[in-house]
Amino acid sequence: MDALKLNTKKEVYKPSNYNYLYKSKDGFIQLLYNTFTGALAEISDTDKEYVSTLLRAPNNQELRNRKQDIFPIMVKSGFLVKESINELDFIRLRHLKGVASLRNLSLTLLPSRACNLRCIYCFEKEVNEYMSKEDCKNTLKFTEIQIKEINPQGVFIRWYGGEPLLRFDIIRDLSEEFIKICLNSKSEYYSDIVTNGYLLDEATAKELVRLGINDIQITLDGPEEVHNKRRMLKNGEPTFKRIKESIIIAKRYFNTVDIRINSDRENMDAIQDLLEEDWLYGENTELSVGVLRSYTGTCNEWLPGDTGFTSGEFFELFKMVKNKSKKDKDKSESRGISVKSHYCGAQLLNTYSIGPNSLVYKCAARLDPEDAVGVIKEGRFYPNEKLVEWLVKPSFEVEPCKSCKFLPTCMGGCPSVRKECKDIEELRHAVCNYSIKWLDTVLEEKARKLSKKLPLRGKKEAFL
Ligand code: SF4
Ligand code: SF4
Repeated sequence: MDALKLNTKKEVYKPSNYNYLYKSKDGFIQLLYNTFTGALAEISDTDKEYVSTLLRAPNNQELRNRKQDIFPIMVKSGFLVKESINELDFIRLRHLKGVASLRNLSLTLLPSRACNLRCIYCFEKEVNEYMSKEDCKNTLKFTEIQIKEINPQGVFIRWYGGEPLLRFDIIRDLSEEFIKICLNSKSEYYSDIVTNGYLLDEATAKELVRLGINDIQITLDGPEEVHNKRRMLKNGEPTFKRIKESIIIAKRYFNTVDIRINSDRENMDAIQDLLEEDWLYGENTELSVGVLRSYTGTCNEWLPGDTGFTSGEFFELFKMVKNKSKKDKDKSESRGISVKSHYCGAQLLNTYSIGPNSLVYKCAARLDPEDAVGVIKEGRFYPNEKLVEWLVKPSFEVEPCKSCKFLPTCMGGCPSVRKECKDIEELRHAVCNYSIKWLDTVLEEKARKLSKKLPLRGKKEAFL
């Protein structure tokens, strides 16, 4: 490595709070990862002792001089930081920048809170409510005002529910108007839909794509027999055959078809059988795992009892699904290791979910009227005190997160899950274990590539 010309001689340094040393399972590869900068270094056997001593005594001049190329790289990558730096403040800064970004306007719309299915684990209360004409007018006016005020590069519209296709008429009328608004304001328009797929036929798929809805997510719960016991119609009739047809149709029309496999301990063994089905795969299909836990959150559902996964079980299943999907296998590394400014879209200032009665929500798993963070009237958003909880009090600003070395990759985890955790033990079980296991899984993958001398994607060095 080339020596870097940094004026590091007079500075006093300390090791970063966010260094994470990872040893591969076979014990041959040792990686040093910084969860704040994203820097990753392979520590060779010859440098191992030196690097760990330098991290303990970074201001020892004789030690710095012994291997002159290593010290500047440790500084430049953020493994060593100036004594005066409060790294947590930099995390706060990154968080503020991220959540207050005005680059995009993201709206999740709930045209229907009703659903045609009765999944055994559904967390949403049965409500036969739909967006009224007044709600639609309000939403369009709100969008126009937002675009005028913040001039976003892109407008993202997600159709969600209940089951959104129960009110295709609302999707059509609003989408046509959104397209006009975006054309007039020169904002890019993106749209996708999350549906159970039961009502998707050829004509609907064509229309959705005409309306700029190019990506679709459809959920399955396993092979036919297992799926039908978990995702049935209101009258108990099975849904698998029809949803399979919808997926086959969707593959012909949409840019991306995300087939989400909802899983918990009860159906995890059966998922292997589902993955044998050829019709799941294609150039434009992706498979993802939806985790059903005993907690509300991670865009997951609430499941009574303790059929939720442990983090270990989840990652076994995750790997199995990703390995089956070649497209995802290629992407998984770059997607996997990342530093975050926030955990999810619900924490962003410019992200809103709008439903019947023009109520506004933040979290996709908390869509009951009592979770509303405000209301839109004549195109203006009137927030209530619940919005403050989401935006002003980041969940990572408490212990144990404030002093956790995984904070920059976790950012406190899903706020909705956190609300359900009674104590630190539950937090560790429901959030921390997943964050740490995720990082270990990605680092193990990096180590595997290194041992096979395959090129690594991602940053090798980063800067504070
Ligand atoms: S807080 Fe975010 S990640 Fe968690 S369930 Fe809600 S939208 Fe999903
Ligand atoms: S939730 Fe757990 S892993 Fe995440 S930052 Fe907090 S203590 Fe760390």
